[in-house]
Amino acid sequence: MEEAASKPSSKVVAVVGGGLVGALNACFFARRGFQVQVFEAREDIRRARTVKGRSINLALSHRGRQALKHVGLEEKIVSQGIPMHARMIHSPSGKLSSIPYGRKGQYILSVDRANLNRELLTEAETYPNTQLNFDHKLQDWSAETGLMTFARSDGSVQEIQAQLIVGCDGAFSAVRKQFLRRSRFNYSQTYIPHGYMELTMPPADGEFAMKPNYLHIWPRNTFMMIALPNLDKTFTCTLFMPFEEFEKITTGEEVMAFFHKHFPDTIPLIGAPGSPADALRRDYFRLPAQAMVSVKCSPYHIGDKCVLMGDAAHAVVPFYGQGMNAGFEDCIVLDEMMERFEEDLSVVLPEYTRVRVPDDHAIADLAMYNYIEMRAHVNSRWFLFRKRLDNLLYAVMPKAVIPLYTMVTFTRTPYHEAVERWHWQNKVINGGLLLGATGAAVGLSCLLAKNPPDVNQLVRPAEQLWSRLMAWRPA
Ligand code: FAD
Repeated sequence: MEEAASKPSSKVVAVVGGGLVGALNACFFARRGFQVQVFEAREDIRRARTVKGRSINLALSHRGRQALKHVGLEEKIVSQGIPMHARMIHSPSGKLSSIPYGRKGQYILSVDRANLNRELLTEAETYPNTQLNFDHKLQDWSAETGLMTFARSDGSVQEIQAQLIVGCDGAFSAVRKQFLRRSRFNYSQTYIPHGYMELTMPPADGEFAMKPNYLHIWPRNTFMMIALPNLDKTFTCTLFMPFEEFEKITTGEEVMAFFHKHFPDTIPLIGAPGSPADALRRDYFRLPAQAMVSVKCSPYHIGDKCVLMGDAAHAVVPFYGQGMNAGFEDCIVLDEMMERFEEDLSVVLPEYTRVRVPDDHAIADLAMYNYIEMRAHVNSRWFLFRKRLDNLLYAVMPKAVIPLYTMVTFTRTPYHEAVERWHWQNKVINGGLLLGATGAAVGLSCLLAKNPPDVNQLVRPAEQLWSRLMAWRPA
């Protein structure tokens, strides 16, 4: 058995998982002076030739940025990202329309996942009290003793002990397995019927093939495709579709027929320049569609020995772009509690569970909701009207009405409070609209009864009003 501490007087914190949340968390603990040991199952991705894993890029927003700011990395990461100010909706006929994410100047950032992970690991390594251990796959651990068993790729096994074990080992967490053996641990996991597949859209004549500062969306009701820009002027397109639909497409011809029908504007853009159809046919079959899981559990801690964070505690479906952001915010919340309760883990960990579980469950539910909003609701005129109206009200009364997306993406309003406020705002706005519509209908009926007009005189101004509202952009 090996005692991981180099200074026996200081507490050893073992961070299991050197992914996005684990690497960032290591920095938070190191700043507090703990002896931090990170154990990552994979080899060091900074030296790996190919990086296996999930999405190539992801959307970083306010919560994630705030966490990076705490460890002095915000500016660096932001400078390596591409701002996306609005969604760009691609209709089946190729018509484009944009829906801003927030006010002028508010944007989310497309960042390269592997690069972000590399930067975080390098940052963690700058602390003399942090050690990164790659090729260490957690097999088992004891909540009583804090003893962990790791498997190495050469077949050897290593036993290491820590005072605090932080489970940042992702959606299929090995740390969480111990929790499942305990009484009063609630756990649920849901696979959605959709899978995802990534396709690359290369640069066209050395430039982005589409406008870069947007998150492009092709909503097709039961499925959708999105595309996020990369620094090398490519776009990563992600097709989200029910597995049974993926399975129906078995030949190159079927791929082309599918894209001609649903995403005709992307055919010349996806794949290699010169022979886009061949590249699309090939890329589609390169990797099978990947599954998406939503995990909820509670509590997040065992005594003062262990805490789950990031996807290990709350894997969410990717449709709100908040999985990593929520995981990064976990690190700030725990750190704030460490400060408030003077690092007394027997108080900090239960408090962390008490505060964080409702928020993580709220973002898990919102992500499920957005799963439908992104692929279907954005096609609805009522939805677009409400989005514009919410943005208009936000511009006029910024304290009274804050769109849900703004609260989630551009503030640190606790997720569960954002949801409560959203329900309340919806009630008030829909009630107001109903009242206004009833009043207008009554007034109009009285007017018409007194003085029947030419129908065109009514229809044209109504059409003009509608198109003005739809074209309106927040300042
Ligand atoms: P992971 O990134 O899964 O890292 C876990 C780490 O633990 C890995 O390095 C793994 O090798 C290691 N590990 C696993 N088991 C062991 C073990 N037994 N022992 C030691 N190490 C182990 N989020 C956003 O905020 N914005 C987005 O736009 C976004 N887009 C996404 C798109 C897709 C398609 C998907 C699938 C997810 C997306 N997410 C997004 C979610 C985001 O990817 C996750 O929330 C984030 O990666 C969670 O980080 P993590 O460190 O908790 O887990």
